[in-house]
Amino acid sequence: MSPKRDAEKWTRRPADHDMPLTYLVNRAGPKGHSPCIILSGDVVGGYVHFIRGRSVKCPDNECAHCDNNTERRWRGYLVVADARSRELSLLELTAAAMRPIDTYFRKHRTLRGALLETKRVPEKANGRLYSLITESAINVDSFPAVPSVKSLLRKLWCLPSVASDNGEVERKIRLHDDDQDICSA
Ligand SMILES: [Zn+2]
Repeated sequence: MSPKRDAEKWTRRPADHDMPLTYLVNRAGPKGHSPCIILSGDVVGGYVHFIRGRSVKCPDNECAHCDNNTERRWRGYLVVADARSRELSLLELTAAAMRPIDTYFRKHRTLRGALLETKRVPEKANGRLYSLITESAINVDSFPAVPSVKSLLRKLWCLPSVASDNGEVERKIRLHDDDQDICSA
């Protein structure tokens, strides 16, 4: 490497892969989630174990956590925008919250644009999560395109990335392997 040649090499932006998009995992508190607008088309999830406060995907076979009889629970995820602040996040759902969402999906063939509200009954951290999903008048086209939930979950669960299952959007929003933000969420 010649210092002379590199000395005048300026860039106005880092490379795309050095500007990762991070989505915080939006877990329901004792009062549920803040009302939000769904930007993903559908929920994607899997069975997970909670190890030291973090979700770890259960591989279904040869799982050390299953061998230890660690509880295995379903969690579903989708990209949402907070209805007030418009902040984007990866919202986490439990199996208990899924029935109304599934009914809405069957009717509308997409969740994108729906208003999602959740609450816990009783209003405690371990209360059962209930969801209410309704059509909203919000124009979702005013929100940015979002990456596939699967690509975000691969980051969250530190699974190997797959070339693409979401076409153009996923190629544009490439998540860098060095990005640890979401892996420590
Ligand atoms: Zn397991």
